[in-house]
Amino acid sequence: MVFPRFALRPCRSNFLKTVASSYSRKDVLGVRQPSTAYLDYVSQHIAEGVAAAEAERRQETAECKADYSHQTEVWQKITDAAENLRPELEDILQDLHAHPEVAFEERYAQSCLVEHLKSHGFHPELGVYGVGTSFRAEFASADFDPQRHRSIAIMAEYDALPGLGHACGHNIIAAVGLGAFISLHQVLSQLSYSGRVILIGTPAEEGHSGKEYMIRGGMLDGVDMAMMVHPFGHDISSHAWVGRRTLQATFRGIAAHASAQPFMGRNALDAASLAYQGMGLLRQQMPPCDRLHAVISEGGRQPSIIPDSATMNIYVRSLHTETLVDLSKRVNDILDGAALMTGTEVEKEWDQHPATLPVRNNAVMAARWARSQARRGRVALPAGVIPDTLAASTDFGNVSQRVPGIHPMIKVSPPDVALHTEAFARWTKSPEATTTAVDGAVGLAEVAADLLFDENFAAAAAQEFEDNGGVMSVAETFG
Ligand SMILES: [Zn+2]
Ligand SMILES: [Zn+2]
Repeated sequence: MVFPRFALRPCRSNFLKTVASSYSRKDVLGVRQPSTAYLDYVSQHIAEGVAAAEAERRQETAECKADYSHQTEVWQKITDAAENLRPELEDILQDLHAHPEVAFEERYAQSCLVEHLKSHGFHPELGVYGVGTSFRAEFASADFDPQRHRSIAIMAEYDALPGLGHACGHNIIAAVGLGAFISLHQVLSQLSYSGRVILIGTPAEEGHSGKEYMIRGGMLDGVDMAMMVHPFGHDISSHAWVGRRTLQATFRGIAAHASAQPFMGRNALDAASLAYQGMGLLRQQMPPCDRLHAVISEGGRQPSIIPDSATMNIYVRSLHTETLVDLSKRVNDILDGAALMTGTEVEKEWDQHPATLPVRNNAVMAARWARSQARRGRVALPAGVIPDTLAASTDFGNVSQRVPGIHPMIKVSPPDVALHTEAFARWTKSPEATTTAVDGAVGLAEVAADLLFDENFAAAAAQEFEDNGGVMSVAETFG
């Protein structure tokens, strides 16, 4: 078949147009939303575990009530004191929510909390243990002797998330800490007791390890036990928190013209790419709670130049200190291997921010927390109901590896609202947030009072800590 000549021109022109548009068109296919099938399965599993644990814990609480009847009066006084603080705790958490500040910039929160403490007659110190936005207040019995009597530390966080505000609920943590401390002071000052209670404002938890800096500055010197509570979608007495180390790896190669003399280059981006793939392949061999995330934050400027430098930022997380050390070694090997394969060298800078250690929850203290919450109408789930695979990191881990401690979770939102979301940020200023702050304050104050009054309980908590390895030497573990 012969086409007339005039017919070929428009035809060819259309073809070129099609080719041109296929390369210049911006294809947007749309983000594929992840299936919720696994999350649904996990949620179902949790719901069944919650129901079973609730029934068990209610039974247990009823049975144990009699054992601690002698302390009911102290507990009742603490409850009354915390309830009286309800309007003040609400003011605090709303004020902090309206003025969110990120790590190391918490000046407003520091001054707000310190002013409230002053109004109750305290003289807090500011900028303690090397962190400018921290604070510290304490009270002690007249006979307090650090050699013979216990010192209990209550910790209050108050930093927010960049762009999200109080989406982790640290405004509630601050109100809880203050409420517990002031309630305890009001109650203990009318009783005969021996010991000391310290409130420590601990900034910079999000993305940092503010508490590790403060520990190095002496925060835990003379402290026997420590505690704080974190808002969440469930009440949990012992929740899994993975340790986290940070690593910056910089590959150094040799730049070369990528077309004219590529054989004279040593490609640092190739090394970073191989390391990224290597970490991806390692994931199949990792224990289920280990996490490894990386980004290539710098990998050259021009496609025509073989990159002589590439930088990766990596987070390494694990549920136990020992497994965190293991995973760190595997990552080191991958980076070295990638460098060897590409003829580059790699500089590794571990722990630019101090490592965040896994939380070692003290089961003896956590059980007492659960009882305090049961009397507030809350069922604090034991360890294991929420799968350990749903874990993040907190610098309270660093505290809990030095002294016996608890970091329970207290319910403020429905279970399906995740931390670090706008939805959670709305719950942390809801009416439920105030009740959460009061219940949390009652719980921490009661556990602290029990540690001061109940010798057997305090000895059991200390013994459990020793049985689980005692004070951990971070320097020796991570070199
Ligand atoms: Zn957080
Ligand atoms: Zn948090």
